[in-house]
Amino acid sequence: MAPREIKKNISRFSTDKALRKLFENIKKIVLVAHPNPDGDAMGSTLGLYNILKENKFSPTVISPNAFPSFLQFLPGSGKVIFADKQPDLAEKKIRQSDLVTIMDFSSLKRSENLKEALTKYNKKFLIIDHHRQPDWPAQYWFWDVNSASTCELVYRLTKKLFPKYRFSKKTATCLYTGTMTDTGSFRFPSVKPSTHAMIKELMETGIKHYEIHEAVYDDFTYNRFQLMALALQKLTLAHSGKSAYVFLSLEELNRFGYMKGDTEGFVNLPLSIKGVQLSGFFMEQEGYIKISLRSKGNIDVNRIARQYMNGGGHKNAAGGKWFGSITELIQTFTEKIKI
Ligand code: 5GP
Ligand code: MN
Repeated sequence: MAPREIKKNISRFSTDKALRKLFENIKKIVLVAHPNPDGDAMGSTLGLYNILKENKFSPTVISPNAFPSFLQFLPGSGKVIFADKQPDLAEKKIRQSDLVTIMDFSSLKRSENLKEALTKYNKKFLIIDHHRQPDWPAQYWFWDVNSASTCELVYRLTKKLFPKYRFSKKTATCLYTGTMTDTGSFRFPSVKPSTHAMIKELMETGIKHYEIHEAVYDDFTYNRFQLMALALQKLTLAHSGKSAYVFLSLEELNRFGYMKGDTEGFVNLPLSIKGVQLSGFFMEQEGYIKISLRSKGNIDVNRIARQYMNGGGHKNAAGGKWFGSITELIQTFTEKIKI
């Protein structure tokens, strides 16, 4: 673990022994993903779900809302409880569990429709995450900002908790998927030799990595492809060509029959332009504009998202929400942010 940053923010972090003890004499475990879950949120929760099941625990995965359809192939995805659809069941599962695990996020603010149930919960509570500046008053932490994905943390946690455990195809599929999506298919600076060492072990279970890539990336409908073409057409350069942004309005999204997940990855596209080091993707929602930011090198979009956009994330990938007009947002992006 790399507890330096957490020491600064949170007084208590967990030893390996404390983590092992946490899983002793318990049965029911609830695993919570962040709202609008991505590949790493679903890969890590479902990965740990299957690992725990294979080790005789009774886990439940709760997601605040739906995940994109291209993640439906993940083993166990049919068992996920959605808090927006079944709030009473989600609340009951949390209340009755022996341990709650928050995964791929560590900001209480982001828990949205689960905030009340999670704040009330007073039994064992563990956070497994790799986002910067965690701010949850939790008891137990398995947290490393240097980890390429939360799936990688689940892999490391599993090695500590169940040293004799051998990954199954099911569990390997989940952990491979989340690491693949959070690392831009193993290309971001966050990837380390240890990431590939994990992938080697996961591949040795016999999973077909090319089928996972196809399931996630070759899933476009014709409409989604047309929406991407529009996004590319609307791309605007700023900061003398060092940044680019795209805005899609609700009307434009609806014109192409927008479904959750359809804009996944669009924020990365401008970074393929030579010289562009910062990309902003702004998507109108009911009542606010959803923001995704990506950067290369030393541009810290976590800091930008925190300072200006009610959000956060990682140094090179962050998100947030804008409650003003798009004109104001573009002005902030192009003028207030200095790169
Ligand atoms: P994305 O652009 O894919 O939605 O998110 C990029 C990264 O920023 C993800 O790691 C995500 O967890 C984080 N992120 C996205 N939106 C928010 C937000 O509103 N608040 C915080 N704290 N983090 C966010
Ligand atoms: Mn992640």
